[in-house]
Amino acid sequence: MRQKIVAGNWKMHKSLEESQALITEIRGLVRDEYRGDGKVVIVPTFLALPSAARLVEGTEIEIGAQNAHYEDQGAFTGEISVSMLKAVGVTNVIIGHSERRQYFGENNALLAAKAKSVVRHGLKVIFCVGETLEQRESKQYFRVIEEQISQGLFGLDRKEFANVVIAYEPVWAIGTGLTATPEQAQEIHAYIRKIVSAQYNDEIANETSILYGGSVKPENATSIFMQPDIDGGLIGGAALKARDFIDIVKAMR
Ligand code: PEP
Repeated sequence: MRQKIVAGNWKMHKSLEESQALITEIRGLVRDEYRGDGKVVIVPTFLALPSAARLVEGTEIEIGAQNAHYEDQGAFTGEISVSMLKAVGVTNVIIGHSERRQYFGENNALLAAKAKSVVRHGLKVIFCVGETLEQRESKQYFRVIEEQISQGLFGLDRKEFANVVIAYEPVWAIGTGLTATPEQAQEIHAYIRKIVSAQYNDEIANETSILYGGSVKPENATSIFMQPDIDGGLIGGAALKARDFIDIVKAMR
């Protein structure tokens, strides 16, 4: 179902205690200040997930993980499976974040296996795509995004694809303070919807939530979220401050 979503990716920030305090603060602000029907997802480190899920029980807030392995169990030192995440109350998993692609060498084939595992377990995959600055400047961005989406997601059947959320995150805008203009972001979001429609159909494309990520802040969230094909945001830095995060949540209409 197409839905407005704001998801806060905490990356490798906050101790367990700090995470619990921030989730409690965000929970209170969402309860007191957010009147819309968009979805709020908090994505802390693995360590904080079980207590995060307990802290949001009985609220509309959902918990996400930043990564997962594609197998359910096995000799994969240092990894965590989707079934393990599901067992502690995680309902969303970010796959393909540019930091995973860039620093951990995750390629489209690996990400396709991970995305498949997430949706097979009935969780939502927040699948990230986006071009580097060099790819934007050399005008390769449509090709790069088409490749990331077709290789990463188009192995899913129609039913599986219902659990997909796509996040367009231009790499040059992540954590840099540079933001795509609302028009630049809208252009790519409309393109993503077009290729999803060509692969599946119009109905599925219209039902897919497509988020923008890259230096979203309270000051620019409204103009970005107003675009017709932008269904919310994946937020990094600003998700670590409860006040900023709730103001971005409130920009969802
Ligand atoms: C992100 O990490 O997904 C992100 C968009 O980060 P930031 O908001 O800090 O640019």
